[in-house]
Amino acid sequence: MGNPQTLDVLRRVFGYDSFRDTQQQIVDHVTDGGDALVLMPTGGGKSLCYQIPALVRDGVGVVISPLIALMQDQVDALRAAGVRAGFLNSTQDPGQRRTVEAEFLAGELDILYLAPERLRSESAMRLIERGPVSVFAIDEAHCVSQWGHDFRPDYLELSQLHERRPDVPRIALTATATPETRAEITTRLNLEQARVFVSSFDRPNIQYRIVPKREPRKQLLDFLRTEHAGDAGIVYCLARRSVDETAEFLTRNGVAAVPYHAGLDAGTRARHQARFLREEGLVVVATIAFGMGIDKPDVRFVAHLDLPKSVEGYYQETGRAGRDGLPSTAWLAYGLPDVVAQRKLIDTSEGDAAHRRRLAAHLNSMLALCETVDCRRVRLLAYFGQDGAPCGNCDTCLSPPESWDGTVAAQKLLSTVVRLRRERGQKFGAGQVVDILRGKRTAKVSQHRHDELSVFGVGSDLADGEWRAVIRQVLAQGLLAVEGDYGTLVTTETADDVLYRGRTVPMRRDPAAAVRSARATAS
Ligand code: ADP
Ligand code: ZN
Repeated sequence: MGNPQTLDVLRRVFGYDSFRDTQQQIVDHVTDGGDALVLMPTGGGKSLCYQIPALVRDGVGVVISPLIALMQDQVDALRAAGVRAGFLNSTQDPGQRRTVEAEFLAGELDILYLAPERLRSESAMRLIERGPVSVFAIDEAHCVSQWGHDFRPDYLELSQLHERRPDVPRIALTATATPETRAEITTRLNLEQARVFVSSFDRPNIQYRIVPKREPRKQLLDFLRTEHAGDAGIVYCLARRSVDETAEFLTRNGVAAVPYHAGLDAGTRARHQARFLREEGLVVVATIAFGMGIDKPDVRFVAHLDLPKSVEGYYQETGRAGRDGLPSTAWLAYGLPDVVAQRKLIDTSEGDAAHRRRLAAHLNSMLALCETVDCRRVRLLAYFGQDGAPCGNCDTCLSPPESWDGTVAAQKLLSTVVRLRRERGQKFGAGQVVDILRGKRTAKVSQHRHDELSVFGVGSDLADGEWRAVIRQVLAQGLLAVEGDYGTLVTTETADDVLYRGRTVPMRRDPAAAVRSARATAS
């Protein structure tokens, strides 16, 4: 079965014995001249899917990739395996470019990596028209999707490839494949006729865990010390400053860690990345600028100290753990301030209202994942349109969260927000709302005479942390929204269902709160 040449190339050039699950079908289909759309998780082995057809077919395989910083490495690795590879991107001077262009036209290359920004240059397009192209590979194809989290305007130019060279087969590959993104890739790249190959997105060796954030750095250190001492891993933070501070904190506490973000000079970044790839137990603390295309098989954990912007981003980032198939952990700490911070980013983001709505939808899906009482993996796979059974290897499977009927708590919370608005024409953030619920006579409460509200103190049965958990879940269920610079709380239309129409609100109990209530019952 299959094309004997492709297996031969796999063994001879890449030194692997056999194809992984769908690789063979994909490689054979594209080698035979078919178009393909490949949805495969990070670490699944997408590169071979276009590299082997490029080697077997006559001519040069042209690979469009946004990972300009990695092109040199990719080309070096291929050359080391005896493949004639080159790249064209903006880091080269005109002389270097001309050399590669000549090699391409003469068919002296097997694979040419092309940065998407090159597609805007008419000379590059003419090159494509005249050159001996064997296959077009569009890597990170989700970058064409405005719905996705990683849109690159240059990717819209990709439809030109097919217009100018309808004779050349195309393979588009991505690791982020929600039904929406997939539909957009198909239409924008005119891949309606392409065969679609969907791998399972499950990464069974990754254990997913999401914990409420209290003292994030300390929680991270505990996690590393108890479970991943001496392991290589990635810690993601939202802001450059927290990257620097967290790297310092870890180093001070005996964990070998280096920072990585776009504010560091290129030399430092390259050095830290090289150390991470080479050394055994280094931790990289990074913004999401780090990791795309990095192939280190033994990353044992990916930790997030801040809430990712979307489930797609989260899945891609956590997917960098455990490419070798060995047990690994995806650990995320998240809290109410994350929601406020993300909301603010959305409100101040460039782009039109539709764009902001998309970002808000992404955030809501991420919140729903955080607050689910179901298996995290089932949730994740469902997000990517795939079915699964409870996995036994995520926090909610391993220690099912206690759930409780939070309807009354939600009603107290929502009516406090409603009363502030109706009776006082005011909006406040979570802190003040919790103080009102708990009946705390703070200076700010007195100043605004919030102790005169009928809801003052109605929530004294729950602790501060428990109220914050209630607010997070009410947000995740879309009953409340956060807005503005100060993260003020506002009710949504669905809040009325809870206040007036008998909708119940099941909630998960925070692990710490569960311990507290167990102690209270025991004593
Ligand atoms: P992706 O692009 O999907 O994230 P890569 O193409 O970088 O994944 O492959 C991930 C890792 O798996 C790489 O180290 C690659 O060499 C390895 N790999 C891919 N296919 C095979 C195979 N058939 N046999 C063994 N290892 C493979
Ligand atoms: Zn599970």
